[in-house]
Amino acid sequence: MTDSASMTMPPRVLGMLGGGQLGRMSALAAYRLGLEVVGLFPDDDAPLSQVCPSIIQADYLDFGALDDLVARCDAITLEFENIPYEALSYLARSGKLRPGADLVGLTQDRLSEKQAIERAGLKPAPYRQIDSARDLAQALSDLGGQGILKTRRLGYDGKGQQRISDADDLEAVWQGFNQPCILEGLVDFSWEGSVIVARRPGGVQLQAFPLVENRHENHILSETLAPAPQANSDLAQEAERQARVLAESLGLEGLLGIEFFVTASGLVVNEMAPRPHNSGHWSQAGASVDQFEQHVRAVMDLPLGHPSVVCPTRMVNLLGTAALEHQRWLEQEAAQLHLYGKRSVKEGRKMGHVNILEPNGFDPS
Ligand code: AMP
Repeated sequence: MTDSASMTMPPRVLGMLGGGQLGRMSALAAYRLGLEVVGLFPDDDAPLSQVCPSIIQADYLDFGALDDLVARCDAITLEFENIPYEALSYLARSGKLRPGADLVGLTQDRLSEKQAIERAGLKPAPYRQIDSARDLAQALSDLGGQGILKTRRLGYDGKGQQRISDADDLEAVWQGFNQPCILEGLVDFSWEGSVIVARRPGGVQLQAFPLVENRHENHILSETLAPAPQANSDLAQEAERQARVLAESLGLEGLLGIEFFVTASGLVVNEMAPRPHNSGHWSQAGASVDQFEQHVRAVMDLPLGHPSVVCPTRMVNLLGTAALEHQRWLEQEAAQLHLYGKRSVKEGRKMGHVNILEPNGFDPS
């Protein structure tokens, strides 16, 4: 017989690059599974710091700090993709970084991201590479006289992008950007959706969350409806299939959020993110496993959950000053409030979200 008094549970430790709300919610899920978390980020007042006692506060390119993280962790993941590639490739040498540096690196650049989507046999928005005003004029004429000019790097929530047409002064537009860009043709979509997929190292298991519908205001996600009320089962299956194909093609180890435009001629992939995604927050209330736990399971190489819808759920982002009125949500029986502990309220800043259970489905508005 084994002497149970002498048995121990060895600690299992997850490293988290980035200290934002996605890291905070992933850490809370990790604690639920009995794991320890070490966060590494430069910020003073990060949402993750408030829940995580083990923080290495350092620049991402502080290689001594990265060595420390590697020494303390069984696996290392990230909660935002714009960690310098040099830091990612340094960490990747330990064999502990998930997703891998190459996958994360290609999502840092809209051009390589689109090329990866095409390599997987999927369809991105039509695009051209832009490095000059002359490229811009040619691309506009190729793409029907209008489009959205986007910086290749560091754009998010509509930042670093501008809608333009051939009536604009293209020289002036280009001077305003003056960095590597792409021009995207305007996609005529009827609605926007997304799928989140998790894949374990080596691809031993892969699980996709159902297709959801996303609504934006000022280019920022405002609401997610899960599962997507406008999707028939063929479309929902096709979106899941495409998400799986992309995850396999990229050799994903971890979580990937894939945004789609739904058009009359099928799905167009907008963009992807190698981490938990805002459009997956609904799963904390409405699914059999939430995306943050699935993220942790995937990167720690634990069996994945089988995500199924337990209750249709509407996720509403609390942006900027909307968070100041959060108490009204506490009075609603079917609403679950999440605040990220951010003190400074800025317009459009993601301060929290609410998951509202809709057992009778969504009203059509
Ligand atoms: P992004 O940050 O690139 O996802 O863009 C933010 C939002 O702008 C998207 O969710 C769409 O609502 C809109 N958008 C971006 N690119 C296009 C496009 N090529 N055609 C039409 N709408 C777009």
